[in-house]
Amino acid sequence: MKKPEVLIVGAGIAGPALAYWLARNGYRPTVVEHARQLRSGGSAIVVKGPAIPVAERMGILPQLRELATRNRSLTLLDPAGKRVLRLPSSSGGSPTVEVTRADLSEVLHRSARGDAEFVFDDTVTALDQDEGGADVTFRRSAPRRFDLVVGTDGMHSTIRRLVFGPERQFVSDLGLYGATVPLEPDAIDDPSELTMLTVPNRMLVVHPSRTTPLAIFTFRAARPAPHDRKNIALHKQTVADTYADVRWRAPELVAAYLDHPAPFFDPLTTVRMPSWSRGRVVLLGDAAAATALLGDGSSMAMAGAYALAEELASHHGDHARAFATYESRLRREVRPRQRRVGLLSRLMVPSTRPGLVVRNTVARAVGRTNRITSRETANGKTV
Ligand SMILES: Cc1cc2nc3c(=O)[nH]c(=O)nc-3n(C[C@H](O)[C@H](O)[C@H](O)COP(=O)(O)OP(=O)(O)OC[C@H]3O[C@@H](n4cnc5c(N)ncnc54)[C@H](O)[C@@H]3O)c2cc1C
Repeated sequence: MKKPEVLIVGAGIAGPALAYWLARNGYRPTVVEHARQLRSGGSAIVVKGPAIPVAERMGILPQLRELATRNRSLTLLDPAGKRVLRLPSSSGGSPTVEVTRADLSEVLHRSARGDAEFVFDDTVTALDQDEGGADVTFRRSAPRRFDLVVGTDGMHSTIRRLVFGPERQFVSDLGLYGATVPLEPDAIDDPSELTMLTVPNRMLVVHPSRTTPLAIFTFRAARPAPHDRKNIALHKQTVADTYADVRWRAPELVAAYLDHPAPFFDPLTTVRMPSWSRGRVVLLGDAAAATALLGDGSSMAMAGAYALAEELASHHGDHARAFATYESRLRREVRPRQRRVGLLSRLMVPSTRPGLVVRNTVARAVGRTNRITSRETANGKTV
């Protein structure tokens, strides 16, 4: 019997993970990615929660552990750069592994590429579906018909725009911006320490990562920066203006941002959609339900990829029911995260000095709980 053909648009985290699981469940996946190669940007992300059993079943957990970042502790600094608090980067006993986003994408791609076709430097320009399939037009490749199409093309999804409507209908800003730039390896003294300075409305993090440390700027801009994702000069100006009066290493880190030819910059947003599928098209990962800031988009993407492939396999060709059950499974994970992200953003980047004191008190309490749980786990008492 002919294997059903599935087009997966986007080779970030969700795309390769889905390709792997679909191939194992009797489908023929093709992944199209608009970049020329896997994208290397991004800071460290934590593989955790429902993504751990998925990584275990894929047999990639040992590789991820080998690639883990060296980050072992978090140091919070006051506005003058003085140490307020040092906490272990512990997860309170639950299994997690922190890797760079690029390493995770690479490992997933390596697992999937033997059984899936990957097409780089191309994208979808039009999609027309009927009862029997979806006709897809590409920027470079010849048009093709697929049984199903999955949009795994991230926060600014083209598939979402083509099939469900313009981005502004589904995306809401948290009022924060994120900007990152890689640093020279000698930019850090202690490769096991993540350092975070917070002043009202602005946070500045130096993350040791694995080989290339990263400066991360998270802030509320005085004026909303226009949503022009390609205007690098504007991004640089916004970061420079926002951190102009910040002390500690801010001048040097801003200079690194200004020197980089294409540093990362994006508003931190959430994606909320009434439904993740329409006909033969379904969304997965950030395209369906991004929650920037929490840093668990990659774990949600891996868990979602597994759930979608499993539901498609168990519904034997009834894609509508498979899409519905996949969505209700994943929404159980996504909903509570989306509910708490607004409060968390205000807690993580307070707008006042008293807010900073509250944030540090909460961090101290969480750190104490994690330390106790980790010790109990090490003693084999609880997990
Ligand atoms: C460069 C980059 C840096 C990131 N940095 C961080 C970070 O530091 N911290 C964090 O928590 N999260 C970061 N993210 C987001 C994080 O990767 C996602 O939250 C999470 O991994 C969900 O994965 P995803 O596969 O749904 O989306 P993504 O990982 O965003 O992957 C989407 C993929 O689709 C591709 N794509 C986009 N549009 C098209 C198109 N029209 N046609 C074909 N391909 C397309 C993109 O190039 C990308 O490879 C970053 C994402 C990217 C792309």
